[in-house]
Amino acid sequence: MKPVIALVGRPNVGKSTLFNRMTKSRDAIVADFAGLTRDRHYGQGKQGKHEYIVIDTGGFEPDASKGIFKEMAKQTRQAVAEADVVLFIVDARAGLSAQDHEIGNYLRRLGKPALLVANKAEGMREGAQLTEFYELGLGDVVAVSAAHGQGVRSLVEQALGQL
Ligand code: GDP
Ligand code: MG
Repeated sequence: MKPVIALVGRPNVGKSTLFNRMTKSRDAIVADFAGLTRDRHYGQGKQGKHEYIVIDTGGFEPDASKGIFKEMAKQTRQAVAEADVVLFIVDARAGLSAQDHEIGNYLRRLGKPALLVANKAEGMREGAQLTEFYELGLGDVVAVSAAHGQGVRSLVEQALGQL
């Protein structure tokens, strides 16, 4: 069985961009508009000898007033349940949001192997800007730039190393 890696996070953090990097596949719709990718998408990736499956999720309703967990139940919880390891993507430039905290709390309670990934980190120094993400209580922050392909190889290695 190939390990399954789920990508979760609020809209527009770069999940689909990362999905495409990790799978060399165009299955997911990369949009300049938050929330366009509505469903889960599966892709296959390979790094060295190691093959894996990636699940992209449409994320959460941009309008959080209706309740994030309802949307999460439909889209993301299944993906997380199917996954061996979860990559929780946050936006290094936008910083932490209420939605990030909700997702972080959910994942922490679940106790499934999860890596916290700060995307859009190109050109950033590791220090100052990323320290706030430690508030989520999910441990170390892995800085990547999905758009520029930086840190993605190492991320996949760390994800597979969780298994
Ligand atoms: P999703 O909603 O989480 O799937 O996010 P998308 O993959 O659709 O990306 C949302 C926006 O962020 C798009 O405009 C992407 O081009 C942009 N984006 C994705 N990755 C990066 C990155 O590493 N750096 C920067 N600066 N922008 C990115
Ligand atoms: Mg998407």
